[in-house]
Amino acid sequence: MEDRSQLSPGKCVSLAPGVRRIVAGNAGLMTGPGTNTYLLGVREIAVLDPGPADARHLQVILSAAQNRIRWVIVTHTHRDHSPLAAELARRAGAPLIGLPPPSDGRQDASFQPAKLPGDGERLMLGDCSLIAIHTPGHASNCVCYLLDVERLLFTGDHVLEGVSPVILPPDGDMSAYLNSIDKLAAYDFDRIAPGHGAIMQNGKKMLELLRAHRMAREDKVLRRLGEMTGATLDGLTTAVYDDVPAERHSWARLTLEAHLIKLAREGRVRENDGLWRRTGS
Ligand SMILES: [Zn+2]
Repeated sequence: MEDRSQLSPGKCVSLAPGVRRIVAGNAGLMTGPGTNTYLLGVREIAVLDPGPADARHLQVILSAAQNRIRWVIVTHTHRDHSPLAAELARRAGAPLIGLPPPSDGRQDASFQPAKLPGDGERLMLGDCSLIAIHTPGHASNCVCYLLDVERLLFTGDHVLEGVSPVILPPDGDMSAYLNSIDKLAAYDFDRIAPGHGAIMQNGKKMLELLRAHRMAREDKVLRRLGEMTGATLDGLTTAVYDDVPAERHSWARLTLEAHLIKLAREGRVRENDGLWRRTGS
């Protein structure tokens, strides 16, 4: 287990040969200790997830990288992950790598990639190489990156430490999310380096737990709907997330919606005039 003080913003922490992490100063309810920015490589550096547009974070990255930045990569374009990418790439003269932002109003539209990583493509990055793995679900343009030489998987917000990622429809998709978990499980790795929080040692186990958590929540949605005679989204949020602090309910409501969209697609629930019901009940 990593020492939590290693997650203080502005600190550059070595995690493995050629892998360093700097946490941005944007700690919060949805960002945990802050966004993790990873520096990969020694002589030539790829910056993964530069984080929010924060002048102080930019300075820490530049000073740790010492003019060696050659690539700027993102896992996805939510506003806590990519807004610093364009500025960093401009300063370093480095190409931006990632998938373009979807247009759901929750994205960093300034991210305009020069290279779109193919699914399963190996990106050659000087000292190291990464395998790009498309993992839609949390957002449609999520890409995880596997540093196979270290058996280390960078997951962005697809897998987080200590919390289950929110799925934000319509761009976020629960069926896609579960499929992406299964897809990742087929790759060979040990540790997970998440977009927020500390390194997780037993990565495969984490994926299993994450899948089990989502399925348990889905079961609870169906159980609660069975007990109610038509539920509004708000009413169902309170019933299904009674184990989650109320301050998180506005986000939980979105993930609940993602569950309901999946279940409706499967013909197991339906909605009429804002009321959700189980089919056949
Ligand atoms: Zn995100």
